[in-house]
Amino acid sequence: MPLSAQLAANIKHAAHNAGFELCGIAPLRAHPELDHFSAWVAAGHAGEMKYLETRGENGDLKRASPETTFPWACSVIVCAINYNTAQPYSTEVRDPQCGWISRYAWSREDYHDAVMRKLRQAETKLREIAPDTNLTTRCYVDTGPLVERVYAKYAGVGWIGKNTCLINQQIGSWLFLGVILTSLELTPDLPAPDRCGSCTRCIDACPTDALIAPYQLDSNKCISYITIEKRGEIPEEMRAGIGRHVYGCDICQDVCPWNRKAPVTAAEEFQPREGLVNPALAWLAEISEEEFREKFRGSPIKRTKRSGLRRNAIIAMGNSGDASFLPLLKKLEKDEDGVVAQAAKSSWNRLT
Ligand code: SF4
Repeated sequence: MPLSAQLAANIKHAAHNAGFELCGIAPLRAHPELDHFSAWVAAGHAGEMKYLETRGENGDLKRASPETTFPWACSVIVCAINYNTAQPYSTEVRDPQCGWISRYAWSREDYHDAVMRKLRQAETKLREIAPDTNLTTRCYVDTGPLVERVYAKYAGVGWIGKNTCLINQQIGSWLFLGVILTSLELTPDLPAPDRCGSCTRCIDACPTDALIAPYQLDSNKCISYITIEKRGEIPEEMRAGIGRHVYGCDICQDVCPWNRKAPVTAAEEFQPREGLVNPALAWLAEISEEEFREKFRGSPIKRTKRSGLRRNAIIAMGNSGDASFLPLLKKLEKDEDGVVAQAAKSSWNRLT
């Protein structure tokens, strides 16, 4: 076996030992999907996520020009880990008193930390076995200037579905990705074939029509973006479509046939924190500063800040059809100010 193939096999073995179910290798190259990424940003579909628009010295988007952003790198080692737990899907939950937090955000440990720890373990092994003493490596979990799912596709880890998520034929799409960029030239894997076929379930199920075409998401319309990234008030016309989602949205993955038999993980760090699966809307709407800090320490949910999470829970009450929320909404409108009071007023109006 040539050295680059032997090294590739060894690093995959190390990734599996570190806890990753999937690992593949892609060349670091300007794959055609990165042109689509540039066009997507140019069309304004990234919304207010300015970090996706970071540009290099030549003015190109960093994420779309990997050879300029990482001139020293040759290969991307893509690792994926299943975070699915044995809980119902959002599409199966009917209780109007409860909301929905996206599956990825339930975990006991922040997935960035959990995945990075495993990635570092694989990276250490790579450094031990690599013959190149000048080897350069860099690990990223979400935070690097690259479009991970494109490399995951070319590493054979999965295909990018019409819902824009990465899907693996055996495991489905409940996957966290971590990447190790390296100066080593490793034998790449073959890209994963697209297995969406004629299915359009995700596009049909999206309540806000955020999947504007197959493989194209307009973040501005996406419940996940609106509830997590959007600051301040949510425009009135968007509120009804959010349903009872208070942090993220899983609908386009819940309806995907490739997730029907998705395996569940036994990993302790990805098991849900108490109260986060179908959280009580009244609890979130009135959560104190102290409880928010305590409950969401080391959780991605901190990203919305307390006011954002309360805003979302109050909007969800307005979409619940449950008039028992009316006294609480009146109280919040009277006692609070800013986005919380505004959301309470609008939800009260929607319920009456
Ligand atoms: Fe592809 Fe269907 Fe899954 Fe959408 S729901 S990602 S079209 S298989």
